[in-house]
Amino acid sequence: MITIIKNHSILSHHTFGIDQSVSHFLQLESKADLDEFLTLKNTPPFESLPIIILGEGSNSIFLNDIEALVVRVNFKTMKLLKADQNFVYLQVGAGENWDDLVAYSVQNGWQGLENLSLIPGTVGAAPIQNIGAYGVELADVFEQAEALSLETGETHIFTKSDCQFSYRNSFFKRQKGKWLIWKITLKLRKKPILNLTYGNLKTHLHEQKISQPNLQDLRNLIIKIRRSKLPDYRVLGNSGSFFQNPIIDLTVYKALKNEYPDLPAYILNDKQVKIPAGWLIERAGWKGYKYGQVGVYHKQALILVNLGKAKSYELLELVEVIQTDILRKFGLSLKPEVNLYH
Ligand code: FAD
Ligand code: NAP
Repeated sequence: MITIIKNHSILSHHTFGIDQSVSHFLQLESKADLDEFLTLKNTPPFESLPIIILGEGSNSIFLNDIEALVVRVNFKTMKLLKADQNFVYLQVGAGENWDDLVAYSVQNGWQGLENLSLIPGTVGAAPIQNIGAYGVELADVFEQAEALSLETGETHIFTKSDCQFSYRNSFFKRQKGKWLIWKITLKLRKKPILNLTYGNLKTHLHEQKISQPNLQDLRNLIIKIRRSKLPDYRVLGNSGSFFQNPIIDLTVYKALKNEYPDLPAYILNDKQVKIPAGWLIERAGWKGYKYGQVGVYHKQALILVNLGKAKSYELLELVEVIQTDILRKFGLSLKPEVNLYH
């Protein structure tokens, strides 16, 4: 049976660590909880409240006290659905911790998730922004999702094409707040083909004298690099990359490159390139900048950090001043990647 907590502090439910309260909070741990919630949401006073679905809050910041029904999805299950000669099909509950899943897949020798090691958050949130890192994204291994419409309560199966995955985006992200993902199925390779195309992965392995890396070697390396570059949100509150990397037309890029010959860019297709937002922010001089209790992380300018007791207005002002400066200097708009709740 689900318990509804009124006026609940959200502090321990999101990784940026601003303390706000939500008017109604509940957790879903089982199918019975889910069914109860689907009935309950249509009854007073919940029918008039917005619903916010929450995993581990590593891509969500609560900026004010909020009148809403916040639903923490905590449903855990991992089931090997089937296996054929080349692949295993693994069904995973939305509430499983993403990195526990990666560790489990690596232990079993199933390939596909190792580059996504140590990404915080839940399995259910992974399709929302088509999580990605080190040259791999969820879409590469995604088979299907079981999701419920928050409008009708009906269950739908979404195939990969239904999810309309693109760079850090999906159908679910565009239809924000309309679907609750309950389970996903991933298709993982039984005979590993490691993806070492990103950055210096090969060089790092070479330096470690690992000539024939296995899945665990690659996972260990990615964990090592991430720990060395990214702040631990348990120590320094953050939500990972605060802004999306801008995708711009090749023509715009060429003009900018004339002005900034050191501008890095990654080709997405024959018309568009991706510009690292962290580079823009660093080049504009914001890396390490502090404003009250918020700051731009000194090792990676794309990450905004909570220096202790960050206030929402400090964060919003810092975000605005960075956006204005990047627009003025480069003519590019930075959009938050993080979900902000006011
Ligand atoms: P939450 O913040 O709880 O939710 C995020 C969004 O998903 C919200 O819109 C929420 O409503 C929705 N949502 C959550 N669960 C469900 C569900 N079951 N059904 C429907 N909607 C749901 N991201 C990357 O892509 N790559 C990275 O390398 C990466 N590194 C990070 C490093 C750090 C230090 C941090 C703090 C974050 C990083 N992130 C990264 C961002 C974050 O980890 C991912 O976006 C992650 O998928 C969020 O999971 P969560 O459970 O915490 O989501
Ligand atoms: P990094 O390696 O210093 O690279 C900076 C940016 O350049 C990244 O955003 C990355 O784009 C892009 N990039 C670098 N090499 C690339 C290549 N060979 N091909 C395409 N794009 C390339 O970045 P980092 O901060 O240390 O992060 C490493 C990885 O972890 C990145 O993939 C990043 O997305 C991921 N990460 C994500 C978050 C988040 O919250 N979203 C937080 C931390 C780390 P991509 O971002 O598209 O890869």
